[in-house]
Amino acid sequence: MRKLLLIYTGGTIGMITNAQTGALESFDFSHLYGHIPELKRFELDIQVKSFDPPLDSSELGPQHWQQLASWIASSYELFDGFVILHGTDTMAYTASALSFMLQGLKKPIVFTGSQLPIGIIRTDGKENLITAIEIAAATDAQGQPILQEVAVYFEYALFRANRSSKVSAHQFEAFASPNYPLLAKAGVQIEWFQERLFRTQLPALQAQFEVSNEVLIWRLFPGMPFEHYTKALSYPDIKILIIETFGAGNAFSKQRFQTLLEAFVAAGGLVLNITQCQSGAVRQGAYQTSTFFEKIGVISGADLTAEAALTKCMFALANVPSTERAAFIRTAIAGELSAAK
Ligand code: ASP
Repeated sequence: MRKLLLIYTGGTIGMITNAQTGALESFDFSHLYGHIPELKRFELDIQVKSFDPPLDSSELGPQHWQQLASWIASSYELFDGFVILHGTDTMAYTASALSFMLQGLKKPIVFTGSQLPIGIIRTDGKENLITAIEIAAATDAQGQPILQEVAVYFEYALFRANRSSKVSAHQFEAFASPNYPLLAKAGVQIEWFQERLFRTQLPALQAQFEVSNEVLIWRLFPGMPFEHYTKALSYPDIKILIIETFGAGNAFSKQRFQTLLEAFVAAGGLVLNITQCQSGAVRQGAYQTSTFFEKIGVISGADLTAEAALTKCMFALANVPSTERAAFIRTAIAGELSAAK
């Protein structure tokens, strides 16, 4: 019988109505089968672990990513797959972070959650949970896990974790991965798109738990008053600045902005350029308005999501020597970015 570890971190999915008070409360996941009897029909051994107390995902950060990564790493040999129930708000951050912290995966880690609590009749939580479990348990003809990476399952679609973003606060289709196609689609059957699945080149799991928050992200906007930002961008408190630029990686050519970036880079800081657009990639140098970035050595973030860019930089700061960081950020290590076209 295949063994799965189900970890409940918190979020909407794990809530049921208290029969006495009518209020929504987090339910005790050790009674999972009582609440979701459908799970008994799987021939699976599902063990459950929970954050205590369960947390809204806005409260989660690096120490929780570390907790999850270390639970998974320490029980990696004992289980065939892992399902993580997580609030949707920051799921793409946690899931992206885990894709960098746990490299060399040969087993699935599937994140899911829901827009409506599992105890509400119209919940999307039951389907999300049941199918996430089925995906985490799925094997090929040789008995190997079909999925061998970190993924997000939501509303009939399986996304690569470090390509996914939360795109809707109210629709059941809460997630999307505009720059990478679905890994699988759940219909009457689960349709897998084999050629899109990530396969590691590493011989074994490589778990690294440290991350650093010496990063800053700026979403550029027309008229941004850079005179106020000099203090915020001080190296070495901030070691990587991520700029969310316009279109294919463009920005205004304001002298103050350029001087600020030049000084930051000269002091040893790295600047990563990602686009504000939901889909498509940065192409530095394609327009006059991005040639300055090329000149001072700004790293092109290609088609990285903001969540993947941030967590990759946080990971790189703690685990990659400073001389190799720029090359590391530019290179896909867990399928998070596409090669420049
Ligand atoms: N605020 C909740 C969270 O992210 C929303 C959800 O679970 O979907 O924890």
